[in-house]
Amino acid sequence: MSTAVTYENWNQISDAFRIDDKSKGARDVLEWAYKNYPDDKIVYASSFGAEAIVLIDLIHEIKPDAHIVFLDTGLHFLETYEVIDKIEARFPTLRIERKEPKLTLDQQAAEYGSALWKREPNSCCQIRKVIPLREALTPKQAWISGLRREQSPTRANTQFLNRDEKFKNIKICPLIHWTWDEVWGYIREKNLPYNTLHDNGYPSIGCFPCTQAVDENGDSRAGRWSGTGKTECGLHTS
Ligand code: SF4
Repeated sequence: MSTAVTYENWNQISDAFRIDDKSKGARDVLEWAYKNYPDDKIVYASSFGAEAIVLIDLIHEIKPDAHIVFLDTGLHFLETYEVIDKIEARFPTLRIERKEPKLTLDQQAAEYGSALWKREPNSCCQIRKVIPLREALTPKQAWISGLRREQSPTRANTQFLNRDEKFKNIKICPLIHWTWDEVWGYIREKNLPYNTLHDNGYPSIGCFPCTQAVDENGDSRAGRWSGTGKTECGLHTS
């Protein structure tokens, strides 16, 4: 087995070792990842959106018992929980962990006031998403994410392998070159379960207080924290 790329040895890895060749597709990246990281050092952090369905199918082919973590904020749509149940039924060998924040919603309301997401969405995301992911990633060397370059200008320079300064980890993004149409082509071709909110104008789906439907031709992430100026939950910003 090759030396795994880690946050610590990133600068010692030669350019040739890095996967940055545009000709390599998602399957190549995932095969490399599961070959190069021990089972307990790699996790896929999944939102169970459309990109996630593609990744889960690909990962299952390569690593049927892969570890997947879902950040269960307690504020997801019913349809999101339904698709997780469907994925668990279709891929029973996968190890899907529902990671909850330390504070329940009632405890958060008691400590910070009700509906923190309306007043301080960054604080709410920090409590319910960023800290739980940090806990999940602390024992890992690498995590997989479904970022695609065309999703937003802030994601346009994402590489297959990224030195993640936020979580001191390696972030692996196998879908960077995929288009939205390619994602849906794959889902339909394989007849995979997906979040039915995608059929109702929700291209990007997060917590229900912070997610709205968008126009068909609008920015795919325009429905997230709409009108607040916030565009990211904080998992992909340093
Ligand atoms: Fe809170 Fe909204 Fe962030 Fe969910 S997306 S954690 S509700 S601010």
